Amino acid sequence: MSEKVLERHEVPKEDTWDLEAIFSNDNEWEKSAESLKSKLSEMDAFRGKLGDNAETLYQALRKQLELEEQIGLLYTYAHMRHDQDTSNSFYAALQDKAYGLVSLLNQKTAFVTPELLALEETKLNAFIKEKKELSLFAHMFDQLQKQKAHVLSNEEEELLARAKEVLNASSQAFSALNNADIEFPSIQDKNGKDLQITHGRFISLLQGKDRTVRKKAFEAVYQTYNSYKNTFAATLSGQVKGDIFTAQSRRYESAREAALSSTHIPLAVYDQLITTVEEHLPLLHRYVSLRKKCLDVEELHMYDLYTPIVKDIEYQVTYEEAQKEVIAAVKPLGDEYVQKLKKGFEQRWVDVQENKGKRSGAYSSGTYGTMPYILMNWQDDVDNLFTLAHEFGHSLHSDYTRSTQPYLYGDYTIFVAEVASTLNEALLHHHLIQTLDDKQKKLYILNYFLEGFRGTVFRQTMFAEFEQMIHERSESGEALTADDLTSMYYDLNVKYYGPDMVVDKEIGLEWARIPHFYYNFYVFQYATGYSAAQALSKQIIEEGQPAVDRFIEFLKTGSSDYPIEMLKKAGVDMTTSQPVEQAMKLFEETLKQMEELMES
Ligand SMILES: [Zn+2]
Repeated sequence: MSEKVLERHEVPKEDTWDLEAIFSNDNEWEKSAESLKSKLSEMDAFRGKLGDNAETLYQALRKQLELEEQIGLLYTYAHMRHDQDTSNSFYAALQDKAYGLVSLLNQKTAFVTPELLALEETKLNAFIKEKKELSLFAHMFDQLQKQKAHVLSNEEEELLARAKEVLNASSQAFSALNNADIEFPSIQDKNGKDLQITHGRFISLLQGKDRTVRKKAFEAVYQTYNSYKNTFAATLSGQVKGDIFTAQSRRYESAREAALSSTHIPLAVYDQLITTVEEHLPLLHRYVSLRKKCLDVEELHMYDLYTPIVKDIEYQVTYEEAQKEVIAAVKPLGDEYVQKLKKGFEQRWVDVQENKGKRSGAYSSGTYGTMPYILMNWQDDVDNLFTLAHEFGHSLHSDYTRSTQPYLYGDYTIFVAEVASTLNEALLHHHLIQTLDDKQKKLYILNYFLEGFRGTVFRQTMFAEFEQMIHERSESGEALTADDLTSMYYDLNVKYYGPDMVVDKEIGLEWARIPHFYYNFYVFQYATGYSAAQALSKQIIEEGQPAVDRFIEFLKTGSSDYPIEMLKKAGVDMTTSQPVEQAMKLFEETLKQMEELMES
C-alpha cells in the first residue's frame, strides 16, 4: 500500500469494486431509472382491489417485487458510487435521485400492507388454494397476520403516525445536547499540554498508557455529565415514556414485548440472555483480576478498563497476508465456502484502499442480483484483518441467500446477520491461535478476543438489563430521576465487574452518554448474535461436517423463516441457556490460555 492517500482515479483497478457489473456506465443507470419511473404508475391499477380475487392479488404482489428489485439495483449502484468518493458531486446527485425513486415507490405501494391486513385469513387461504403461486407469499402473510392484533383503526393509525415526530423529540434533544451543546473541559496531557476532551478523544484517552491522564479524562467527562444530569434524565425518561405509549396504544403488555415482536423474537430470548450472563459473571470477575495483575496496580479503577494489557508489539498484516489468513481460517466451513470466498477476491467484490473522500469504516453491501460488495479502508493491522473476515461473513451470507431464495426472501434480519459475520471472526481467532508461534502475538490475539467478548456480551447485556429496569419502573408508574438512574446504573456496574474492581462513583452517570438507550430494546441483539456465533463456531470445530451442513443451510435461508427458528435449525436454541453457555465456555478456555501464557 502506498504512503500517501490517493485520489479516487489514482487507485489501481484491481483494488476497486466492480460496480460496472451492475451498470456498465452511468448512462445505463439513467435509462433504467427512466424505465422504472414510467412503470411506477402500474401499481395504481391495483389500489383498492387486492381483496378482489386471487389473480389480482398475485399480479399486484409480483409487480411490487419487480419494481423493488429494479430499484434495489439503482439504489445500490448510486450509494456505492457515492461512498467511494463522497466529494464527487455527480454521484452525490445520483444518490439523491435514487432516494427520490425509493420514496416514490413507497408512496405508490403504501396501500399494499393495509389492504393485506384487512384481508380475512380464511379468504387469504382460499386465494392461496386457488392460485398456487401465491404460496410463495405464505410466510410473508403469516408475519402480517401475527401483527394484526396490534394494528389499530385507520383513524388511530393516522393519529399514531402523526404522534411519531413528537415521540422522537426526546431522542433529538438527547442527540443535540450530547453531540452539539455539551462541552468538555481541557485536561493536561502527559507532556503538560492542554488538551480539549471530545467524545472521540475520550475513548482514545482511556485506551492510553498514562494513568494520570486516564483518571483526569474520566473525572472531567463525568463531572460534565453530572452538571447536565437532570436534563439527560428528562430526555431518557421521555424516550422511555414514548416507548411505553406506543406499546400500550398497540395493546402490548409491555414496551419490551412490543419492541421484540417487531422482529418476532420471544421474550424468553431476552430473559435467558440476562439470566445466563449473570450466572457467568464470575468469569468476568476473573478477567478483571487478570487485568489488575497485568497492569500491576494496587487498585483497578474504571478508567483502567480500556488500556491494553499486552505489551506493544509489531504486528502488521498486509492485505495480501490477510487474504491468505482469512481463506485458511474458513477452511472448516468446507470447500464450497472457501471457493466462494476466493471468487470474492477474484471478482473484485472488495474496494480495498482508502482514497480521498471515501466513506470511512467498512461494510458489506449489494442487493439481489449484484455481487455482495465490501467496502474497506485498509490499514496493515489486526483490526483490519478481523474486519475483512467479518465483512466476508456478511457477503457470503448474502451470496448463499440470494442464490437460494427468491427475491422476496433474499435478505435477512439484523438478529441473524451478525451471526454469519462474527462466526468468521471466531474461526479466524481459532486459526491464529493454532498457527501463531510468537508468544506476544498470541497474547495479543487472546486479549483481542477477551476484550471483544467483554464489550459485546457482558457490556451489552448490562445495557439490556438497565433498559429493561428503567422501562419496567416507568411502566409501574414510578419516576425516573437522575439520582434513581445513577444509583441503578452504579449497582449494575458493581455486580458486573466484581470485587477486584474499584467502581468509581462517576461511572454511575455513564447512562447519560449512551445513545443506545434511545434505540428501543435493540442492543441485546449484539450479545445474542455474538453468543450464537461463538457457540456455532465451537460446534463447527468440535463436531465437524454435521455442524457445517447446518450452518450452510442457515446461510441459505434468507428471511424465509423466523430468525429464532433458523438459528434453532443451525444448532443454537436462543430460548434456552445453551448458546450463551457454550460461548461462555469459549471465554473461559481463552481466559485460561491467556492466564497460562502470561505465567510461562
Ligand atoms: Zn457486521
